[in-house]
Amino acid sequence: MKTGFIGLGAMGVGMSRNLHNAGLLTAVWNRTIEKSAAVQADIGVAIAETPAELAAACDIVVICVSADDDVLSVIDAILPVARPGLLVIDCSTVSSQTARTAAERLNTRGADFLDCPVTGGVEGARKGTLAIMCGGDAAVLERARPVLSAMGPTIAHMGPTGFGQAAKATNQILCAGAIQAAADAMAFAKAEGLPLDLVIETLGKGAGGSWYFVNRAPFMARESFPPGFRVRLHDKDLRICEDMAAARGVELPTVTMTRRDYATLMERGHGDEDISTLFRLRDALFQSSSR
Ligand code: NAP
Repeated sequence: MKTGFIGLGAMGVGMSRNLHNAGLLTAVWNRTIEKSAAVQADIGVAIAETPAELAAACDIVVICVSADDDVLSVIDAILPVARPGLLVIDCSTVSSQTARTAAERLNTRGADFLDCPVTGGVEGARKGTLAIMCGGDAAVLERARPVLSAMGPTIAHMGPTGFGQAAKATNQILCAGAIQAAADAMAFAKAEGLPLDLVIETLGKGAGGSWYFVNRAPFMARESFPPGFRVRLHDKDLRICEDMAAARGVELPTVTMTRRDYATLMERGHGDEDISTLFRLRDALFQSSSR
């Protein structure tokens, strides 16, 4: 099975390397050629000149680019060589509607599409431990399984096209709630003068604990927020959640509040920090209180 990879960003570098290690990777393409050259120097893979050249040479094309318009521009670049037997797997985080549009365009030429957004971060991409949420036809997913397995052990078929992205959006809402709760709690604990490391160790084992509390409250305790999950990326994902909920006539309070907080943080130059930087805003509430 010849597999090509498009989008050698923070995620794509690790994912393509794992495809190479599984003996599946035939060629790569990246908009900025320097990144393809670096991957070629590392693993010796062929570089395609264009997305179409890559798709013409492969049975499966995996895409991992930034946002909705970027996915559709890559799909459009592939379309002239799309044909029965070609399968395109999109691992970017975009809207369900973009997934359905991509599938429709490819289907008109007889090619197949799966939306397969991932969770597990750059570390999961590098280690091949991503969890993958899939939307599309079950039989097509079986064809994709060897490729997906090279990138992560958890492969969940959520339903038809767009359902993988809907599951990913659900995950991003959970992350927003978890980081909001952790930031409020840590600012409160600090104001009460509690021993923060002991609070994290103890409460992290309880019912109120979460991955974000256990792993990111320590950033809050140290007031240092090195990039893990950047504010501007989570904001992009929450915009997708906001639009999807709005299409059903609903505004979700956690999403609205978190996007408002992120807008403030980005204005103040914190957009490239980890989302635990939200603590800054909650800590400031206590600092500015007169009591
Ligand atoms: P990144 O480091 O910013 O890389 C983005 C990649 O997309 C680059 O290779 C970029 O090419 C390419 N790209 C962007 N626009 C393009 C276009 N119009 N045409 C062709 N290529 C284009 O981003 P990332 O962190 O790898 O994330 C990629 C996707 O995975 C995003 O949808 C993100 O939300 C999702 N994701 C990220 C994480 C994470 O922890 N980082 C976790 C799960 C999911 P250039 O090199 O030319 O800029």
